[in-house]
Amino acid sequence: MAIKVISDKCIGCGVCVNECPFNAIDMIDNKAVINESCTACGACIEACPVDAIEKEEVATKGIDITKYKGVWVFAEQRNGELLNVAIELLGEGRKIADKLGVQLTAVLLGNNVKNMTETLIKYGADKVILGDHELLETYTTDGYAKVISELIEDKKPEIMLIGATNIGRDLGPRISAKVKTGLTADCTRLEIDDEDKKLLQTRPAFGGNLMATIICPKHRPQMSTVRPGVMEKAKYDETRQGEVEEIEIKLTKDDIKAVVIDTVKAEKEEVALEEAPIIVAGGRGVGNEKGFELIEKLAEKLGGVVGASRASVDAGWIDQPHQVGQTGKTVRPKLYIACGISGAIQHLAGMQSSDCIVAINKNPGAPIFKVADYGIVGDLYEVVPALIEALDNVDDIMEAFKTVNS
Ligand code: FAD
Ligand code: SF4
Ligand code: SF4
Repeated sequence: MAIKVISDKCIGCGVCVNECPFNAIDMIDNKAVINESCTACGACIEACPVDAIEKEEVATKGIDITKYKGVWVFAEQRNGELLNVAIELLGEGRKIADKLGVQLTAVLLGNNVKNMTETLIKYGADKVILGDHELLETYTTDGYAKVISELIEDKKPEIMLIGATNIGRDLGPRISAKVKTGLTADCTRLEIDDEDKKLLQTRPAFGGNLMATIICPKHRPQMSTVRPGVMEKAKYDETRQGEVEEIEIKLTKDDIKAVVIDTVKAEKEEVALEEAPIIVAGGRGVGNEKGFELIEKLAEKLGGVVGASRASVDAGWIDQPHQVGQTGKTVRPKLYIACGISGAIQHLAGMQSSDCIVAINKNPGAPIFKVADYGIVGDLYEVVPALIEALDNVDDIMEAFKTVNS
């Protein structure tokens, strides 16, 4: 839908300029001209005394959606290692493909990555489309988006799933714009509508206070990004067989406008929260930066890593890569210990799939206790040192056992 001024009818009264809430109308040569700020709200149409403004249907290129078949997963790899999120998407993609009765295809791009195709098949892909080329060694938006969008136009998949990693968040929108389809970012649930077989893409909306289910009715593929850690990993099946199709890559250096000169690792150590089997997380209840030393001590003792709520990140007590939740990382460790975290819905969105949740909070009414398997009501400055001490005693007992048995 677009708004248009019929120039011949416009008498230059300027009423619409005052009426527009978005400053989207300029007077040029005594005629109203709509600018790019227009949201098509329609307020000016009503206001014009001579009916000189109207809504215009913008024709969208109609596509025959029945020509699109199959589920694709972007098999993101870094330096020849498949990311966990790709395995998670293969698990989810497999379920969707089985429900639709179609093939599951993994799209693998890189340089000298042929050896990874078998792994993708063992994790559930029926087919791997392999693009192996020196210009695909390092990820570039232009290179990867060109190859994948041309592939989509050629082979027409009905669904494409991409991990919401830094690369996936860059690549997904670029592909969807190129192939003129929609993309639902950060989905937490994917299902197939039993009746019309459309992909139901569910994600948190309005600050996580409600879940919105989004469909893409008229365009293909239906594209979604899914955060790492949200879906369960596919099971590795040694017996699986599949097909590998190596495509010819027609990229040239001129296709890639941004040149990657160097890759510099962040000075601070990466926090592998999504992979960690044990996370000890601190919230505003920790009280200050120093308090996180205690959280770290417990994490170390258990062989885990430190997580945090957004409140403690915003307070500057800990860096953002530690943040768990809707705007942080989604984790599903075996053990999640929440210390001084109230359990806001945006925090729960990132950790409630953990196998075992232990909450330490001095307020017995804190919502975190509703999702906790074990709740400890108390001051974390008493409970956490007591836990560390108990673990120290376990260590001593184990040591004593070893000595006795040796
Ligand atoms: P609080 O809610 O202040 O809770 C502190 C808790 O500590 C309280 O329950 C208190 O009883 C307890 N406590 C205090 N002292 C002690 C003590 N000595 N011992 C034991 N317990 C104690 N939040 C996230 O965490 N992650 C996100 O990704 C995220 N994304 C968001 C996105 C949006 C769009 C919005 C609007 C919000 C987001 N939030 C996120 C913020 C979220 O709404 C909460 O504000 C935040 O999670 C609160 O953090 P908290 O539990 O540490 O702090
Ligand atoms: Fe302004 Fe709304 Fe008219 Fe667009 S449709 S010019 S936003 S009043
Ligand atoms: Fe022209 Fe109508 Fe706007 Fe007046 S209100 S300037 S006639 S478009």
